[in-house]
Amino acid sequence: SSTVTDSKNLRVKLVLLGDSGVGKSCIVLRFVRGQFDPSSKVTVGASFLSQTLALQDSTTVKFEIWDTAGQERYAALAPLYYRGAAVAVVVYDITSPESFSKAQYWVKELQKHGSPDIVMALVGNKADLHENRSVSAQDALEYAEKNGMFFIETSAKTADNINQLFEEIAKRLPRTPS
Ligand code: GDP
Ligand code: MG
Repeated sequence: SSTVTDSKNLRVKLVLLGDSGVGKSCIVLRFVRGQFDPSSKVTVGASFLSQTLALQDSTTVKFEIWDTAGQERYAALAPLYYRGAAVAVVVYDITSPESFSKAQYWVKELQKHGSPDIVMALVGNKADLHENRSVSAQDALEYAEKNGMFFIETSAKTADNINQLFEEIAKRLPRTPS
C-alpha cells in the first residue's frame, strides 16, 4: 500500500509500535530533525511527522510517520494507526527483555490485522547502552528472520543506524502500485 505519486516518488504510511519508553519518539526526532532531546515528553495518543528521503537511484520516499504511545490505555487505538500502513517499525530497548516480549506481541498483532504486504522492521534501540544489554542481537535476529522482518539495532542518542533504518525500509518497499 505504498503510493506512487509519480514515477520517481513514493509516499508511504509508516507506524511505530512498541513499549512506552523504548525510544520511538526519539528515533523519529533524530530522523526528522537530526536532534536528540533527553528530556523529551511522553507521547500522548499518537503524533504525526513526515520526512522525505532521497535515494541513490534519484527516487524519493516520503515517510508519513505515525508515532504511537506505548501505554496500555492506548492499545485499543493502535489499529487506527497500523491499518493501511505500508511499513511497521516495531521497537524494543536492548536493555529491557520486557520490551522485547512486547515487541513480539506487536508483531503477532500486525500479522493478524495488518496489511498482508506490510514491510516490518524490528528495531533494538538504545544500542549505546550495550553495557546493560539484556536482549542478544542473535536472538532478535533469529526472531526477525522467522517472522519475515528485517532487524537493526539503533541509537537515537548517538544517531547510530537511524538513517540506515529508513534506507533499508525504502529498499524493501514494493515498487509497483497495489
Ligand atoms: P517512547 O515512549 O518509545 O516514544 O520513548 P521516548 O522516545 O520518549 O524515549 C524514552 C526515554 O529513553 C527518554 O528518556 C529518552 O531520552 C531515552 N532514549 C531514547 N532513545 C535512546 C537511545 O538511543 N539511547 C539512550 N541511552 N536513551 C534513549
Ligand atoms: Mg513517544
